[in-house]
Amino acid sequence: MEKRVYNFSPGPAMLPLEVLEAAQHDLLALPSVGMSILEISHRSKSFDQIIGETETNLRQLLQIPNNYRVLFLQGGATLQFSMVPINFLRGTNRPADYITTGTWGIKAAKEAQREGEVCLVWDGKSDNYSRVPQPNELKLNPEAAYVHFTSNETIEGVEFRTSPDSGNVPLVCDMSSDFLARPVRVERYGLIYAGAQKNAGPAGVTIVIIRDDLLERVPDNLHTMLDYRLQAKNKSLYNTPPVFAIYTVMLVTRWLIKKIGDLQNMAARNQQKSKLLYDAIDQSNGFYRGHAQPDSRSLMNVTWRLPTAELEQKFIKEAQARDLYELKGHRSVGGIRASIYNAMPTSGVQVLRDFMLEFQTNNADQKS
Ligand SMILES: *Cc1c(COP(=O)(O)O)cnc(C)c1O
Repeated sequence: MEKRVYNFSPGPAMLPLEVLEAAQHDLLALPSVGMSILEISHRSKSFDQIIGETETNLRQLLQIPNNYRVLFLQGGATLQFSMVPINFLRGTNRPADYITTGTWGIKAAKEAQREGEVCLVWDGKSDNYSRVPQPNELKLNPEAAYVHFTSNETIEGVEFRTSPDSGNVPLVCDMSSDFLARPVRVERYGLIYAGAQKNAGPAGVTIVIIRDDLLERVPDNLHTMLDYRLQAKNKSLYNTPPVFAIYTVMLVTRWLIKKIGDLQNMAARNQQKSKLLYDAIDQSNGFYRGHAQPDSRSLMNVTWRLPTAELEQKFIKEAQARDLYELKGHRSVGGIRASIYNAMPTSGVQVLRDFMLEFQTNNADQKS
């Protein structure tokens, strides 16, 4: 095998080695099928089993109640920015509430504005998107069509600890970058969506978990591919689904169940991993400056700055010499971003933490 480096990419992101090995094995022939996972029909019995197990595993891990459907759609989380308002805002004469804590939430709200009235009930701009709101800062409209929020803002690295309380208004969440990272009380949500390529699999499939009663609100005569009700009725098989991506999500959920156990265990690990980096930031005497405020810190995307842009460049370059890759922050925030999703082992985070301490020692005299 070629050497593998520690990949801190925000997405597509690192997958567990066991998953890649199983995919490699099945690439030539699925056991007792004699055909590659890339070659089988989406109408075949073997794929039926694959999509069935993927759903069963997700239901087990997230304890999804029976009155929710699990859909496997295409178009990424970005298409959900449109599908949600097309299905639930269009023609309602009600506003939709959007809580925007970073770049992805802003994009979601922009798409919704094409379909109806959008209320930006809370926006993190004045704090440079460094925190999520406190519950008492949220004034939600009890008549809203739905409330939308982003549980983890991947670019800024801010994450909700608990979901907002939307009362009887359906709560809609873009969970792309912390899906399967911790337990979720699915019964509090009307709809959850997550592009797979951050934490659940490869690019190409978006998982949607939707409560049955919301399907009844979908207006008639939508385009089939944009209609949650028809997608649910056809069990995500109206057209050819992304077979390989769904199969890989099956392998990832298997890995979670067999190797990790459950999402409590996964969350404890993620807590432990992120603490290594946040401690290094907090104990650096201001050499490293975290972007997120402490009570809003993400377990998945740790973002921080160094005293100068030159030092940030040097940090990224020297990190690569230690096999620590993809640490450059998003251009809108700058600095460093370490994405430490489920598949990043603690050992990788330890190597990064050790490098941070060493880099600080060697460069502390350049503190601004
Ligand atoms: C990556 C990301 C998206 C965009 O996902 P695509 O699959 O590229 O459309 C949306 N929301 C969040 C929170 C993300 O991290």
